[in-house]
Amino acid sequence: MKILSVNAGSSSLKFTLIEMPEKTTLASGLFEKIGLVDSRYTIKHNGEKIVKEISMPDHSKAVDILMEELISMHIINSLDDIEGVGHRLVHGGPEFTKTVVLNDEVIEKLIENIDLAPLHNPGSITGMKAFMQALPNVIQTVVFDTAFHATMEETEYLYPVPYEWYEKYKVRKYGFHGTSHRFINKTISEYLHRDDLKIISCHIGNGGSVTAINAGKVVDTSMGFTPLAGIMMGTRCGDIDASILEYVGKKTGESLSELTNDLNKKSGLLGISGVSSDSRDVEDAAKEGNKRAILAEKMYAQKIANYIVMYNNLLGGADVICLTAGVGENSISMRQMIFDRVKTLGVKIDPVRNDIRGKFSLISTDDSKIPVYVVPTNEELMIAIDTMELALQNKK
Ligand code: ADP
Repeated sequence: MKILSVNAGSSSLKFTLIEMPEKTTLASGLFEKIGLVDSRYTIKHNGEKIVKEISMPDHSKAVDILMEELISMHIINSLDDIEGVGHRLVHGGPEFTKTVVLNDEVIEKLIENIDLAPLHNPGSITGMKAFMQALPNVIQTVVFDTAFHATMEETEYLYPVPYEWYEKYKVRKYGFHGTSHRFINKTISEYLHRDDLKIISCHIGNGGSVTAINAGKVVDTSMGFTPLAGIMMGTRCGDIDASILEYVGKKTGESLSELTNDLNKKSGLLGISGVSSDSRDVEDAAKEGNKRAILAEKMYAQKIANYIVMYNNLLGGADVICLTAGVGENSISMRQMIFDRVKTLGVKIDPVRNDIRGKFSLISTDDSKIPVYVVPTNEELMIAIDTMELALQNKK
């Protein structure tokens, strides 16, 4: 069964075509700058990569090209070969607590909640509509980044702000990276043959979040109403005092949205180091003695360590800690720096085991009080698994 896993943004569309249940990636690619002058696409298949520049005024054109290419590259014989399409959506709002079958009614509800993710959701919805048009008879699903976090209790998801903000405007913690944290939960639970694990899942990429999971249910997560909260990230600040906005705004004359943009795009590793948002560049600069890069790395590690310690407390003692995403999977030095700061938990990293990138591995010592694993994430596969399951249910 061939399933397309789709992640559409306002001007981009990423896809992975996966053979299920074998989990084999048949093709993947990216359509970029849709609606802009220099739009282009890349498709990878069988170790080959094609890149073409072509005018794509909208997502529908991108989807049409994708379908034509999949056939002309002999990846599929006809559109009937595609038996499901799963769409990633950043924000499901409070209503969507699990993956759902996409239909017009769902689209309407998503549009009602557009305010909650004005930068992300509109592009994804446009992508969904284009695929519904191109493949009207194929089951399509929406997989929400927020859904896995729906099990949080009020004590965790409410902010201590006027209660009406929650009642009237849906202001609460939603959490993000849910599809990744769910994949980590599934992978480590299957590996350890347990479904009652207390897991601290650390998704540390350009964006980053730490999630406390108890027996498959999220207890708390570090991102909040938006992905701006929690740990320090590549360009996002994470948790800060909200009063800073008014104070700096008065000094600089920036509007609230300009200031929010500063916190999203000019803060984090980039803001502190002044070098880059990419952890590799910051690491290189720190090695050369750049003081602000050294500071940025220390702060970054400390904020993650603080969440790990806090969630260990919340879970009443974690059974396992998992690291994933770009930095978590690949940065040997950052992993070491993080766990140098959680020694009170008796966690010990084995430098030899830690000397790996991008593969599933135990990186803690045998006498570490909590085992630490690197677990490469695969959100596309998680989307394909959900879509396959709903497609099979639909056939019954
Ligand atoms: P996102 O999906 O949030 O855009 P990723 O999960 O791809 O982000 O993570 C991007 C981050 O991962 C970057 O900061 C990058 O420096 C880091 N990263 C990727 N590969 C490596 C590597 N080999 N060593 C260190 N860091 C890496």
